[in-house]
Amino acid sequence: MRPFAALNSPSEPTVDEAPILHVDLDAFFASVEILDDPSLRGKPVAVGGGGERGVIASASYEARRYGVRSAMPSVIARRRCADLIILPGRFDRYEVYSRQFHDIVRDLTPDYESLGLDEVFADLRSLRRLRVRPLEAAADLRRRINGELGLLCGVGLGRNKLFAKLASKESKPTVVDGRLVDGAGVVWVSPALEQRWLAELPVRALWGVGPATAAKLEKLGLRFVRDLARVDEATLAGHLGVAMASTLVAYAHGEDKRVVEVHRVGKSVGHEQTFAKSLAGIDDAVEAAKGHAAIVARALRAEGRVARTITVIVRFDDLTSVSRSQTLSFGIDDEYAITAIAGALLQSIEFPHAVRLLGIHASSFLERDENQMQLSFGLDPSSSNARERAEAISRERQVGNEALRDAVDEVREKFGSAAVGTASELREHGVEIATQRGRHAFGPERSPGG
Ligand SMILES: [Mg+2]
Repeated sequence: MRPFAALNSPSEPTVDEAPILHVDLDAFFASVEILDDPSLRGKPVAVGGGGERGVIASASYEARRYGVRSAMPSVIARRRCADLIILPGRFDRYEVYSRQFHDIVRDLTPDYESLGLDEVFADLRSLRRLRVRPLEAAADLRRRINGELGLLCGVGLGRNKLFAKLASKESKPTVVDGRLVDGAGVVWVSPALEQRWLAELPVRALWGVGPATAAKLEKLGLRFVRDLARVDEATLAGHLGVAMASTLVAYAHGEDKRVVEVHRVGKSVGHEQTFAKSLAGIDDAVEAAKGHAAIVARALRAEGRVARTITVIVRFDDLTSVSRSQTLSFGIDDEYAITAIAGALLQSIEFPHAVRLLGIHASSFLERDENQMQLSFGLDPSSSNARERAEAISRERQVGNEALRDAVDEVREKFGSAAVGTASELREHGVEIATQRGRHAFGPERSPGG
């Protein structure tokens, strides 16, 4: 049974009853390919790696009728659908559409969080005074996206991110016995029905439950969310770890504390680069991250900010992406501190393919005064946990370099970035370091003057 019909209550919710909206474009990459080449319409189309080890990144609904899904090995996809057209993907085109999609969401509210090219959360509460009605706003959003971009999407509304995302999934077309069945397009999970609906979902519908976790849960006899809601959290922690167990038990009770992380201009500072030649793997990515970290660090200092959250984004050649974040108890604006965190985050990512894009973003800003206090707490640099170790190292760098960095930035501001460098940078370039007073091995030719 498809439960969404029961979810829409006849009375329209207010933004306080349905504050969170999630919108996700349908079969995004494949749909863009079909828009650009109408001869593909009605055919089973997928975007992804066509080779022996290729993976499907996006599949048209026509392809899904045959059981082709994203993340499926292309070999299996071809076995399910012999006529499947697998296209290599044109990332620049997807970015054009993605930008327009984000522009349309931004017209509704600036309070949105982007989860990738084709997926956005929005917090509607700031629209309260405009008397915006969530279901109407959601329907408008769909109409505009379809009218202006020619793309379809599903929109979910709910009390929190958990329900909004589950609802948008529910709003989408599905395949039943090889036939495509339209979705509702917009689904609101009303508070009166949310618990009953959630209880009947399989555990793998929950955020963060991939095939491996789902298999572990099933081994424990936990197949549905209702099973998870009854389980003893401490027992579950023994199998999944404390963090995962507490998150899943909270989700099972419909609780989700995550807020929509709004990235307004100025809310995050970042640098992304698409490489002309993809990076082979982790080592190259870590090396590239140093340059990114330096750019982000300088941008932070130019704005007089320190950031507590560092996010790395990796996009692979098969167009799948992964992002990882770490939030520290203190803020950083030091390039080595950012490099340490970014490096640890990269180490936690699997690199099945070459890297097409690398991004580093800094967010969750702290006032400098506040940060001074936070930095006074010690951390253990010999921790066996890689992320904790990176945090301790980044704290050391941040504390040690605050004064020096301010001076270096001032020089660079006046004379350009080549005017001054660290000793190791300069030695690499064959520069002899002067230690004697009055001798200058590097720096501006003319005196600072003013
Ligand atoms: Mg999508």
